[in-house]
Amino acid sequence: MAIPFNKPHLTGKEAHYMYQAVYNGKLSGNGEFTKRCQHFFEERYGFKKCLLTTSGTDALEMCAMLCDLKPGDEVIVPSYTFVSTALAFLREGAKVVFADSMKRNPNLDAETLESLITPRTKVIVPVHYAGVACDMNAIMALAQKYNLLVVEDAAQAIDSYYKPSTTSSHNGGERFAPSGENPRKGAMKPLGSIGHLAAFSFHETKNITAGGEGGLLVVNDERFIRRAEIIWEKGTNRAEFFRGEVNKYGWVDMGSSFLPAEINAAFLWAQLENLDEIQAKRKQLWNIYHERLSNILERFAPSGENPRKGAFTLPDIPSYATNNAHMFYLILPSLEARTALIKYLKEHEIMAVFHYLSLHSSAYYADKHDGRALPECDRYADTLVRLPMYYDLSFEDIGTICNIIHKYYIKK
Ligand SMILES: *Cc1c(COP(=O)(O)O)cnc(C)c1O
Repeated sequence: MAIPFNKPHLTGKEAHYMYQAVYNGKLSGNGEFTKRCQHFFEERYGFKKCLLTTSGTDALEMCAMLCDLKPGDEVIVPSYTFVSTALAFLREGAKVVFADSMKRNPNLDAETLESLITPRTKVIVPVHYAGVACDMNAIMALAQKYNLLVVEDAAQAIDSYYKPSTTSSHNGGERFAPSGENPRKGAMKPLGSIGHLAAFSFHETKNITAGGEGGLLVVNDERFIRRAEIIWEKGTNRAEFFRGEVNKYGWVDMGSSFLPAEINAAFLWAQLENLDEIQAKRKQLWNIYHERLSNILERFAPSGENPRKGAFTLPDIPSYATNNAHMFYLILPSLEARTALIKYLKEHEIMAVFHYLSLHSSAYYADKHDGRALPECDRYADTLVRLPMYYDLSFEDIGTICNIIHKYYIKK
């Protein structure tokens, strides 16, 4: 049987909680399950205020609205990301300035970031690709220096952390130590807790899902909380009304309908109850991939040989990042090499896929881009391949996949 690229995982309690949500008699948003999920994130990760949304895209759109952009304001976004990261800000009238990726991994390069900052720059949007942290200390330092907002696109980054270097004096505190991790990691900061605002996705391709589509807005800077609630509820102060803080509610600001129905929150709750188990299994799968593929790599491109020609490069996890096993990718030496590997895997019923195309040269944006070459981004667009990665992938499946990759390199 073919091994698909992705398969959404069911914990077994989803239908039960959805049934409860239906028979609770409150189907619309902001009910019991929504509150439970939001509280879970606030408690576990120390996020100041959480609001469930109907998608990660919606959460990014809320972030962009909260940034209160004026025409001509500039927002720095990596080019190697999903369309929504850029589109959310473009819709608000901003000019999107695309940043290149690092050589070592697809995240935006904090070292060249400063050269993109102008007097019109208002926001930086780091994307934690594959759930691996961007260099947040460097990014936050620039944001502070130039008085910019930081919106983390943490769509892929649930339960992943940034580890400030040991010389850093400030940290997230002991309470953020995830259960079961060693206590030395108490200084880690959960991704999504560092920027002023952050967005998560619970699309079915992510580590946990809200029943296909879903997202979360995180507000870490208190100044944005009131307005976030209003934008979430169609521009009304209904949240304050329900808390009894005002005696009638009405239209007070911009907004839209960003909140999901309770059955989606109920689905998500079943996944959150099993988050530790889901993460443990995914990390186990990731580690098996890494071990098996390291061995293959050693055989066909020994580490003594520099550069390692002809084979592939394994994912890079910097010392300041943790791995939430969102994705397992390889970097091939060329577009042709990647196409050939994907084709070979497909012939053996293994569905591997490439990922983003550079946004700066997309059909929609090419003539709006300022013309700068973004070579690292283009390289990932051409050479990155993602292997099947999902909770229900078996150890045997990974064995099969790695054996076929092994055979492929023997043949070459
Ligand atoms: C998945 C994803 C999104 C969009 O999330 P949706 O829930 O599908 O709207 C945005 N940014 C990144 C980096 C993503 O991976």
